[in-house]
Amino acid sequence: MRSLHTRTPLLHSFPLSRRLGVPVYLKLEALQPTGSFKLRGVGRLCVEAAERGVNHFVSSSGGNAGLAAAHAAEVLGKRATVFVPTSTGELTQQRLRSLGAEVIVIGAEWDDAHAEAVAFAKRHEALLVHPFDHPSLWAGHSTLVDELTEDLDSPPGCVVLSVGGGGLLTGVVHGLRRAGWNHVPVIAMETIGADSLACALDAGALVELPAITSAAKTLGARKVAAEAFSVARAHDVRSVRVSDAQASAAQHAFADDHRILVELSCGAALAAVYTPVVEVAFADSVVVVVCGGAGVTLDSLSNSAGA
Ligand SMILES: *Cc1c(COP(=O)(O)O)cnc(C)c1O
Repeated sequence: MRSLHTRTPLLHSFPLSRRLGVPVYLKLEALQPTGSFKLRGVGRLCVEAAERGVNHFVSSSGGNAGLAAAHAAEVLGKRATVFVPTSTGELTQQRLRSLGAEVIVIGAEWDDAHAEAVAFAKRHEALLVHPFDHPSLWAGHSTLVDELTEDLDSPPGCVVLSVGGGGLLTGVVHGLRRAGWNHVPVIAMETIGADSLACALDAGALVELPAITSAAKTLGARKVAAEAFSVARAHDVRSVRVSDAQASAAQHAFADDHRILVELSCGAALAAVYTPVVEVAFADSVVVVVCGGAGVTLDSLSNSAGA
């Protein structure tokens, strides 16, 4: 099957390895064509649909999933419609339009835009591209672990990633199982106020947050996917919350160390090694999934708090 994503480098980070005293590897998903790992899963979902004859992709994300869907449509010569809430910035809308997507601004929050997207996709017999809850997305995201098995001589001491709706987490855990790396712990990072997985694990049930109060909007799913909750309980997944300030400090330190800009949502994962959190202290090596994100500019980063 054709794939739209890029095989990304696994960078041995010397600054972070010095800081932690063990090898720290960075899986550089920020280098995907649309700036995040989302293209792995969304690309796969769209290619599979195109092979079934689907000509139209519908997304309800103004963020990285929407960008990936618009990019997939452009590359495959299909139509893309992206529903975004009124809170979505002009820059994002322009970026989506420049990829040839139709942008429909509707509803105050993602849930409203999503409901419209679902109804529209059904009416038009189009593919609904969910941002985190679909088996093809997980299969696409899991290819990241296949690449780790090729690049590392032995399993890492842990894999660190950030969690929004849990699509990345689910894909990575599926990939670890396929690799026979079932024992490798996953450190699941969230910001306080976007901590839907941590709250669900605390409650022992799939709970819905009343609101998203973190600035890391890309992590702002009020409820994680049922499959994400289930893999988080079946696998050794250690859930960690950091503050927006810690995520922001990590985002800035990472830009200085590696000269790569990532979203605050990715700063949450990097905070595991920049803070660092106790959950990584036991590991004899660490892989951080640098999930990336296109919603960052040099200006926005300079104007945000940092350390
Ligand atoms: C989507 C996204 C996340 C969260 O991924 P989920 O699959 O929703 O858990 C984190 N960081 C970035 C940059 C993203 O695009």
